[in-house]
Amino acid sequence: MAAPALELRSLGNTGLKLSCVGFGASPLGKVFGPVTDEEAISSVRQAFSLGINFFDTSPYYGATLSEKMLGKGLKALGVPRDQYIVSTKCGRYAEGFDFSADRVTRSIDESLERLQLDYVDILQCHDIEFGSLDQIINETIPALQKLKESGKIRFIGITGLPLRIFTYVLDRIPPGTVDVVLSYCHYCINDSSLEDLLPYLKNKGVGIINASPLSMGLLTETGPPQWHPASPQLKAACKEAGEYCKGKGKNISKLALQYSLSNKDVATVLVGMNSVQQVEENVNAAIELTTTGKDEETLLEVQEILKPVKNQTWE
Ligand code: NAD
Repeated sequence: MAAPALELRSLGNTGLKLSCVGFGASPLGKVFGPVTDEEAISSVRQAFSLGINFFDTSPYYGATLSEKMLGKGLKALGVPRDQYIVSTKCGRYAEGFDFSADRVTRSIDESLERLQLDYVDILQCHDIEFGSLDQIINETIPALQKLKESGKIRFIGITGLPLRIFTYVLDRIPPGTVDVVLSYCHYCINDSSLEDLLPYLKNKGVGIINASPLSMGLLTETGPPQWHPASPQLKAACKEAGEYCKGKGKNISKLALQYSLSNKDVATVLVGMNSVQQVEENVNAAIELTTTGKDEETLLEVQEILKPVKNQTWE
């Protein structure tokens, strides 16, 4: 009998069908620790061969390194371009933010060169809360619409942490202008605040990407990177939850990913991965969810541990 396939889900009105687990490529920019070229390339290859068809990066991750590594990995696949879906971002760079039409228009050419691609499927304005939302509406998005017409990008997205940015922008532009929103750290076990916004986003016809199901490392056995912005209280609670799971012979990352994957209004859950082992664990977690369901008992216990910090975020 063939192994169960990774589920594909529709991304809003784009017509794209994304694997429910997406490959977050920020770790390929060494954002979460060292990664060799070989590890990066084999992680991308293993992801694709196990059914992951969506890869997300940004010029900001590792000061362009993530785009370069992902480009090498995708090229090494040696498959037709329409077999995989790539998103990158614009407006956030190692040197700072710049959402001007001029900068984002140059940015896509630089990204395409690093990715070794002729087009990307989605170009997203990266972390728009750090810019002027009115500039995003009046200048950046119109510039991206021109890029759409030129064929360098197929769809337009916006990303950021505070959920209010999405309603601010979507309430002020014609329907269909923004195709995709990427929210992060708001649909994981410790913070599920995105859930309340899902009906609004669906009504606006935008595709929904949920990134960082492991809360950027909080929900892992090894813990978050040094730069993680969570409060000491939130870090301590997540550590306690991880240790509780380990003591029970369970893995907090698997539980966390399965939790985020359970809501089918979300097209894809983007997990940052930098090893073949992580790719295999995450794909297995998704397949197990569809075959045997999630571990409700441990989930309830972990939710109880995380109750005092539920929906706690950072600026
Ligand atoms: P994440 O929650 O996916 O956690 C990533 C960390 O978990 C890394 O250290 C990774 O090595 C580790 N990990 C992955 N699988 C694991 C497993 N099975 N067991 C143990 N550890 C595991 O956080 P993230 O990488 O920040 O988010 C995912 C992706 O979403 C990013 O790579 C990026 O593409 C995207 N993203 C975008 C934005 C934005 O646009 N503003 C923000 C955050 C994330």
